[in-house]
Amino acid sequence: MRISDIHNNNKTVLSFEIFPPKRDTELRDIDETLEILCELKPQYISVTFGAGGSANCNNTIELAKKIKYQYGVEPVVHLTCRGYDKAEIDEFSKVLVSEGIENILALRGDPNPNIQEKDDFKYASDLVAYLKQKNQFCIAGACYPECHPESESRVSEIKNLKTKVDAGAEILLSQLFFDNETFFKFEEDCRIAGINVPIVPGIMPVINAAQIKRMVSLCGASFPTRFQKIITKYEDNKEGLFDAGMSYALSQIIDLLANDVNSIHLYTMNNPRVARRICEGVKNII
Ligand code: FAD
Repeated sequence: MRISDIHNNNKTVLSFEIFPPKRDTELRDIDETLEILCELKPQYISVTFGAGGSANCNNTIELAKKIKYQYGVEPVVHLTCRGYDKAEIDEFSKVLVSEGIENILALRGDPNPNIQEKDDFKYASDLVAYLKQKNQFCIAGACYPECHPESESRVSEIKNLKTKVDAGAEILLSQLFFDNETFFKFEEDCRIAGINVPIVPGIMPVINAAQIKRMVSLCGASFPTRFQKIITKYEDNKEGLFDAGMSYALSQIIDLLANDVNSIHLYTMNNPRVARRICEGVKNII
């Protein structure tokens, strides 16, 4: 099923994101995680894609197939384009079509000194336009409520996002953020710019202080004082931080839903305990 149809049916949509384990042995162990995640009945699960190389593609596809055929949940395959040419993207698309995978999150990928960049796709919108020509997939794109770290300005960021949507991105999945006001303002700016596709907020429940500090520095997400105080207070108390991190994420989710945002993309970090606690906290709401 195309995730555009899931989003168009007017119900609240809960989706998860997971990453393929790096080693094949761990890929076998992922069943325990998937079993719990899929029992929570997300409408779809997106699977991240490594920076390059066929091993990364294979693990992403293997995991997407498992999600679809073993667990009956719709998968979305992430696909980055800077390290690939058109022939490689064609090959990848062919495999996805033959495996019955219908949804792609089309991405540029981060610059990586270990990957030889190729010239066919400069931006994610180039990949979206290319994939859209054959119309074999529902295409989603990434968006950044607090701007992408390389962004020249907020105006150019939204203009570039509009180009991606006009090229064929039917849904936008957002970067994580910890201050809902930034999301509300971003959504409003997108609507003013004529971006009318679903914009799905990405929520990352925090379970350790080092992880959050790394995330904030990597993706430039702002770190509200209220949240900083919580992290500082509980950073040496693992279970306390878990409770506090879950409560903070739940309060973000409930505030989004109360403000008529009707979809949530949960960065699960492959941690079923996180997903379970969040789903438990909204079981009478979503
Ligand atoms: P783009 O949309 O191409 O944007 C990148 C930058 O270029 C932005 O600043 C944009 O404003 C600018 N830009 C875009 N078009 C133009 C133009 N025409 N002219 C000038 N400037 C332009 N990375 C992975 O490697 N694997 C993953 O699985 C993965 N999953 C992700 C999932 C989500 C939900 C998100 C938000 C990000 C994910 N990423 C992943 C990270 C992503 O690859 C990086 O953030 C990357 O740096 C940008 O990718 P993009 O698709 O947003 O790029």
